[in-house]
Amino acid sequence: MIRFEQVGKVYPDGTTAVDGLSFEVREGELVTLVGPSGCGKTTTMMMVNRLTDPTSGRILVGGEDVARTDPVRLRRGIGYVIQQGGLFPHRTVLDNAAAVPLLAGWSRRRARARAAELLELVGLDPDTYGPRYPGQLSGGQRQRVGVARALAADPPVLLMDEPFGAVDPVVRERLQSEFLALQAAVRKTVLLVTHDIEEAVRIGDRIAVYGQGRVAQFDTPAAVLGTP
Ligand code: ADP
Ligand code: ADP
Repeated sequence: MIRFEQVGKVYPDGTTAVDGLSFEVREGELVTLVGPSGCGKTTTMMMVNRLTDPTSGRILVGGEDVARTDPVRLRRGIGYVIQQGGLFPHRTVLDNAAAVPLLAGWSRRRARARAAELLELVGLDPDTYGPRYPGQLSGGQRQRVGVARALAADPPVLLMDEPFGAVDPVVRERLQSEFLALQAAVRKTVLLVTHDIEEAVRIGDRIAVYGQGRVAQFDTPAAVLGTP
């Protein structure tokens, strides 16, 4: 579903972020990208939805070369979740959750109905939380709204950058479990960035362990844990 073929990225200032990246994420699979800060995880993810482009190699999503795909059309099929949810602070929770379907051209009424459905799905009562603003929610709740927003237009692919990073360990574990249950139901093709190896092996179907700019190991949790 997502295929990296010898992908390299050198930023204009000469920094090599990734080099010779090759791996494939199957349909419905959750792959975690794990490694220390600065090893190229976020760059990898941003090349999938063309927030930045590779300087060598290519990336295929659903068989299409993303370099030849219009970014707006590409992003319609790709939900994106960032730390803290990345919400619009001056819009209500309901409008935040409805933002992606609205951009995709849905009617206001249909987008809001869908947003309410998704809030329910991530464990937020739409009547209670829908009218609130992001600043009135806890970190974990904001993160859930971010997930609801990313899923609202039902994209086949989900990119998540440290989605459980900004909350305390107890909330974090709950969000991980809830997300696993949600993923079992919706079966998206997911790329998830984390710097926490425990999180990576707990939730990943397979794990890409990054060294500097490279994937040093790409395997199942059992195989990654079994390696000395
Ligand atoms: P990670 O997500 O693993 O922390 P990043 O992909 O953010 O890693 O960064 C990989 C490398 O690329 C780092 O050395 C970082 O400093 C560098 N980098 C990231 N973005 C830019 C940029 N816009 N311009 C120049 N260098 C960048
Ligand atoms: P979670 O994010 O998983 O719901 P938290 O421990 O972060 O759990 O929050 C527990 C409860 O406290 C939340 O349900 C929320 O109603 C309330 N809460 C936390 N932070 C805030 C806040 N900044 N403003 C309003 N309510 C909050």
